[in-house]
Amino acid sequence: MSNKAKKPDVPEDVQEAIRTIIRWTGDDPEREGLIDTPLRVARAWKEYCEGYDEDPGEHLSRVFEEVGGYDDIVLLKDIPFQSHCEHHMAPIIGKAHIAYLPRNHVVGISKLARVLHGYARRLQVQERLTAEIADCLWENLKPLGVAVVIEASHACMSGRGVRTPGVAMKTSRMMGVFREDERSRREVLALMGF
Ligand SMILES: [Zn+2]
Repeated sequence: MSNKAKKPDVPEDVQEAIRTIIRWTGDDPEREGLIDTPLRVARAWKEYCEGYDEDPGEHLSRVFEEVGGYDDIVLLKDIPFQSHCEHHMAPIIGKAHIAYLPRNHVVGISKLARVLHGYARRLQVQERLTAEIADCLWENLKPLGVAVVIEASHACMSGRGVRTPGVAMKTSRMMGVFREDERSRREVLALMGF
Protein backbone atom coordinates (compact mmCIF):
# COMPACT_ATOMS: atom_id res chain seq x y z
CA MET A 1 0.00 0.00 0.00
CA SER A 2 1.33 3.37 -0.99
CA ASN A 3 0.66 6.31 1.28
CA LYS A 4 1.63 8.62 -1.56
CA ALA A 5 -1.99 9.59 -2.11
CA LYS A 6 -2.33 10.84 1.46
CA LYS A 7 -2.29 14.62 1.37
CA PRO A 8 0.27 16.18 3.70
CA ASP A 9 -0.90 18.34 6.58
CA VAL A 10 -0.12 22.00 6.09
CA PRO A 11 0.86 24.00 9.18
CA GLU A 12 -1.20 27.12 9.81
CA ASP A 13 1.78 29.47 9.46
CA VAL A 14 2.44 28.15 5.96
CA GLN A 15 -1.16 28.79 4.94
CA GLU A 16 -1.03 32.23 6.52
CA ALA A 17 2.09 33.07 4.52
CA ILE A 18 0.20 32.36 1.30
CA ARG A 19 -2.80 34.40 2.48
CA THR A 20 -0.39 37.27 3.12
CA ILE A 21 0.89 37.12 -0.48
CA ILE A 22 -2.68 37.02 -1.84
CA ARG A 23 -3.59 40.05 0.27
CA TRP A 24 -0.43 41.91 -0.65
CA THR A 25 -0.90 41.36 -4.39
CA GLY A 26 -4.39 42.81 -4.18
CA ASP A 27 -7.02 40.12 -3.56
CA ASP A 28 -9.06 38.97 -0.61
CA PRO A 29 -7.92 35.56 0.69
CA GLU A 30 -11.28 35.15 2.49
CA ARG A 31 -13.41 35.22 -0.66
CA GLU A 32 -14.97 31.93 -1.68
CA GLY A 33 -12.75 31.07 -4.64
CA LEU A 34 -9.58 31.60 -2.63
CA ILE A 35 -10.57 30.01 0.65
CA ASP A 36 -8.78 26.70 0.07
CA THR A 37 -6.07 28.15 -2.14
CA PRO A 38 -3.40 28.42 0.59
CA LEU A 39 -3.83 24.73 1.33
CA ARG A 40 -3.59 23.78 -2.35
CA VAL A 41 -0.62 26.04 -3.04
CA ALA A 42 1.27 24.68 -0.06
CA ARG A 43 0.67 21.07 -1.11
CA ALA A 44 1.61 21.87 -4.69
CA TRP A 45 4.90 23.35 -3.49
CA LYS A 46 5.60 20.31 -1.36
CA GLU A 47 5.22 18.29 -4.56
CA TYR A 48 7.30 20.66 -6.74
CA CYS A 49 10.07 20.29 -4.20
CA GLU A 50 9.85 16.58 -3.39
CA GLY A 51 13.39 16.13 -4.73
CA TYR A 52 14.69 17.34 -1.36
CA ASP A 53 13.51 14.05 0.13
CA GLU A 54 15.62 11.88 -2.15
CA ASP A 55 19.21 11.19 -3.08
CA PRO A 56 19.11 10.97 -6.89
CA GLY A 57 22.33 8.96 -6.90
CA GLU A 58 20.45 6.03 -5.38
CA HIS A 59 18.64 5.52 -8.68
CA LEU A 60 21.99 4.57 -10.19
CA SER A 61 22.96 1.99 -7.60
CA ARG A 62 21.57 -0.98 -9.53
CA VAL A 63 23.70 -1.61 -12.60
CA PHE A 64 23.81 -4.30 -15.27
CA GLU A 65 27.13 -5.76 -16.31
CA GLU A 66 25.75 -7.95 -19.08
CA VAL A 67 25.47 -5.66 -22.08
CA GLY A 68 26.34 -8.10 -24.88
CA GLY A 69 29.51 -6.27 -25.75
CA TYR A 70 27.71 -2.96 -26.20
CA ASP A 71 30.31 -0.22 -25.87
CA ASP A 72 28.68 2.81 -27.44
CA ILE A 73 26.82 5.89 -26.28
CA VAL A 74 23.62 5.46 -24.25
CA LEU A 75 21.31 8.44 -24.70
CA LEU A 76 17.94 9.38 -23.27
CA LYS A 77 16.66 12.23 -25.42
CA ASP A 78 13.91 14.87 -25.07
CA ILE A 79 13.00 14.11 -21.45
CA PRO A 80 10.37 16.66 -20.43
CA PHE A 81 10.76 18.15 -16.99
CA GLN A 82 9.57 20.96 -14.78
CA SER A 83 11.57 22.77 -12.18
CA HIS A 84 11.36 26.14 -10.39
CA CYS A 85 13.91 28.92 -10.43
CA GLU A 86 15.31 29.77 -7.07
CA HIS A 87 15.26 33.51 -7.76
CA HIS A 88 11.53 33.89 -8.44
CA MET A 89 10.11 30.45 -7.61
CA ALA A 90 8.70 30.54 -11.14
CA PRO A 91 8.44 27.48 -13.41
CA ILE A 92 11.31 26.33 -15.56
CA ILE A 93 9.88 24.08 -18.28
CA GLY A 94 11.99 22.23 -20.76
CA LYS A 95 13.60 19.05 -21.90
CA ALA A 96 16.84 17.34 -21.08
CA HIS A 97 19.13 15.07 -23.08
CA ILE A 98 21.29 12.80 -20.95
CA ALA A 99 24.02 10.59 -22.37
CA TYR A 100 26.93 8.57 -21.11
CA LEU A 101 29.55 6.27 -22.55
CA PRO A 102 29.59 3.18 -20.30
CA ARG A 103 32.85 1.78 -19.01
CA ASN A 104 31.62 -1.71 -18.19
CA HIS A 105 28.08 -1.45 -16.91
CA VAL A 106 24.82 0.33 -17.65
CA VAL A 107 21.71 1.35 -15.70
CA GLY A 108 18.05 0.95 -16.55
CA ILE A 109 17.32 3.78 -18.98
CA SER A 110 14.42 5.18 -16.93
CA LYS A 111 16.86 5.82 -14.09
CA LEU A 112 18.38 8.70 -16.04
CA ALA A 113 14.99 10.42 -16.03
CA ARG A 114 14.66 9.73 -12.30
CA VAL A 115 17.98 11.44 -11.64
CA LEU A 116 16.80 14.46 -13.67
CA HIS A 117 13.53 14.74 -11.73
CA GLY A 118 15.29 14.22 -8.39
CA TYR A 119 17.27 17.41 -9.00
CA ALA A 120 14.57 19.28 -10.95
CA ARG A 121 12.05 18.96 -8.11
CA ARG A 122 13.91 21.53 -6.05
CA LEU A 123 14.51 25.26 -6.30
CA GLN A 124 17.09 25.51 -9.04
CA VAL A 125 19.08 27.46 -11.54
CA GLN A 126 19.39 25.72 -14.91
CA GLU A 127 23.18 25.77 -14.81
CA ARG A 128 23.32 23.92 -11.50
CA LEU A 129 20.63 21.45 -12.52
CA THR A 130 22.72 20.56 -15.58
CA ALA A 131 25.90 20.18 -13.54
CA GLU A 132 24.26 18.15 -10.77
CA ILE A 133 22.86 15.58 -13.20
CA ALA A 134 26.21 15.22 -14.98
CA ASP A 135 28.16 14.93 -11.71
CA CYS A 136 25.71 12.36 -10.37
CA LEU A 137 26.21 10.11 -13.42
CA TRP A 138 29.94 10.66 -13.37
CA GLU A 139 30.34 9.73 -9.72
CA ASN A 140 27.94 6.81 -9.61
CA LEU A 141 28.51 5.11 -12.97
CA LYS A 142 32.22 5.90 -13.39
CA PRO A 143 31.63 6.07 -17.16
CA LEU A 144 34.08 7.11 -19.88
CA GLY A 145 32.01 10.17 -20.65
CA VAL A 146 28.90 12.09 -19.66
CA ALA A 147 26.98 14.67 -21.70
CA VAL A 148 23.98 16.58 -20.42
CA VAL A 149 22.18 19.25 -22.45
CA ILE A 150 19.13 21.10 -21.14
CA GLU A 151 16.87 23.46 -23.08
CA ALA A 152 14.26 25.29 -21.06
CA SER A 153 12.12 28.37 -20.89
CA HIS A 154 11.84 30.34 -17.69
CA ALA A 155 8.50 31.76 -16.63
CA CYS A 156 10.30 34.49 -14.70
CA MET A 157 11.48 35.77 -18.05
CA SER A 158 8.33 35.21 -20.12
CA GLY A 159 5.73 36.34 -17.56
CA ARG A 160 7.53 39.16 -15.77
CA GLY A 161 10.66 41.30 -16.05
CA VAL A 162 11.48 41.60 -19.74
CA ARG A 163 8.28 39.62 -20.58
CA THR A 164 9.83 37.80 -23.50
CA PRO A 165 8.06 34.49 -24.15
CA GLY A 166 9.38 31.79 -26.42
CA VAL A 167 13.03 32.15 -25.51
CA ALA A 168 14.81 28.95 -24.54
CA MET A 169 17.98 28.80 -22.55
CA LYS A 170 20.45 26.07 -23.36
CA THR A 171 23.05 24.71 -20.97
CA SER A 172 25.40 21.79 -21.31
CA ARG A 173 28.00 19.89 -19.35
CA MET A 174 30.47 17.54 -20.99
CA MET A 175 32.73 15.23 -18.99
CA GLY A 176 35.38 12.64 -19.84
CA VAL A 177 35.70 11.81 -23.54
CA PHE A 178 32.90 14.21 -24.47
CA ARG A 179 34.92 17.02 -22.99
CA GLU A 180 38.35 15.97 -24.15
CA ASP A 181 37.67 14.54 -27.59
CA GLU A 182 36.16 16.79 -30.24
CA ARG A 183 34.91 13.87 -32.36
CA SER A 184 33.13 12.18 -29.45
CA ARG A 185 31.51 15.45 -28.50
CA ARG A 186 30.29 16.01 -32.06
CA GLU A 187 28.94 12.48 -32.13
CA VAL A 188 26.92 12.81 -28.93
CA LEU A 189 25.59 16.24 -29.91
CA ALA A 190 24.53 14.85 -33.31
CA LEU A 191 22.68 12.00 -31.57
CA MET A 192 20.92 14.59 -29.43
CA GLY A 193 19.87 16.36 -32.62
CA PHE A 194 22.20 19.38 -32.50
ZN1 LIG B 1 13.86 33.36 -12.13
